[in-house]
Amino acid sequence: MFSLRYNLVMKSNSYKFRCYPNKTQQKQLLQYFGSKRFAWNACLAWRSDWYKTFSESVNGIDFSRELTWLKKLESHQWLKKVPSTVLVQGLFDQDKAFNRFFNEGAGYPKFKTRHQQQSIRFQLDQRVVMNNYRAGKLLKLTGLGELKVRWSRIPNGIPKMVSLSQDAAGRYFVSMDIEEEIAVLPPTRQTVGIDLGILKCMTLSSGLVIENPRHLNKRKDQLKKLQQRLARQKKGSNRRAKTKLRIGKLHARTADCRRESLHQVTTRIVNDNQVIMVENLNVKGMTSSSSGTIEKPGKRVKQKAGLNRSIADVSFSEIVRQLEYKCDWFGRTLVKVDRFFPSSKLCSCCGHKMDELRLDVRQWTCPKCKAVHDRDVNAAMNIHDEGLRLLAPVGTKGPQLRDSGGEGVHPMAVSPRSSDQPSACQEQA
Ligand SMILES: [Zn+2]
Repeated sequence: MFSLRYNLVMKSNSYKFRCYPNKTQQKQLLQYFGSKRFAWNACLAWRSDWYKTFSESVNGIDFSRELTWLKKLESHQWLKKVPSTVLVQGLFDQDKAFNRFFNEGAGYPKFKTRHQQQSIRFQLDQRVVMNNYRAGKLLKLTGLGELKVRWSRIPNGIPKMVSLSQDAAGRYFVSMDIEEEIAVLPPTRQTVGIDLGILKCMTLSSGLVIENPRHLNKRKDQLKKLQQRLARQKKGSNRRAKTKLRIGKLHARTADCRRESLHQVTTRIVNDNQVIMVENLNVKGMTSSSSGTIEKPGKRVKQKAGLNRSIADVSFSEIVRQLEYKCDWFGRTLVKVDRFFPSSKLCSCCGHKMDELRLDVRQWTCPKCKAVHDRDVNAAMNIHDEGLRLLAPVGTKGPQLRDSGGEGVHPMAVSPRSSDQPSACQEQA
């Protein structure tokens, strides 16, 4: 995994670019999206029927044979106009969805409608890829021909697959995964614990508070107004469709802004710290019940928090996702602390545990050592200490870090054991 000489690692990097299909291509895409949906839904129904009738599983490859047969029928001639890679890759995606359902506890794959985000995937023939792909200059896709792409970055490798999608705001995107060499960051001795919260976006154990950007709140008011308007408008009317598109656009812009601001924050945190501790959030559980969160605040949560919460849920998982892959890229360690660890109720000075700490209590005094705590900073400090404890070898107390081998945890550069990492050796010597 590590190329030792230059401290470079091969990592899969995801790129997503806005693209602008012309009128003809847009028409074709409408057809491609529709055909992929048809293949997906038909395959899903076929699978379920087959299983009910014969108690046997069939997969996407089996169905692609059925498709070949379908294409011969007079009624399904239109399928011939669609590149087979689009249909076949769609079926592969369904196989993956079933795999996640059987092995990873994901939900049962659903039928697709034309009202959700549309996406198709093209395989790039690697033998002639130079004719169809030049980073920053050219992208040609089967059936569509050359596509106008806004290359905001120039990838350093050649993709095997390209996905083309359209979001609710009607915008088109191409995305691709590319294997690239990435330089690992020089090691540092700094560590940090992060408390994720609804009121403040992030509180660091260093005392730094990172709040949600204010312009997002302005959008929230705008969104509320639009949604009220939508509720008044007649179903199926043109005005309603217009409002719907505007809502979609607003959602898309808000999500972009949010991701962008989170990227800036997570990059800085990963840059400054060798080990980063966060709570292992059960995002699925959090979204399903509006009253329960990490600290189980229970019934006292106001209804008003509902919208804030749903936004926070998305942010939480996005923050952890970004930290996870950036730590992986740059040779940092991410430690996830058990979500039942009472980070808020412990005194970070003396370790005294409060029986109860209501959610609206932002500041409190420890009855044992009289230390005055900011609720979130104290929680972040506890998460930090708990993370270090998890990393320490059994029987020792100090912040001597080891490779705990857990999920998302990397061999530590500060540990004397990591002599296989050249940068760590320099740091030790
Ligand atoms: Zn105390």
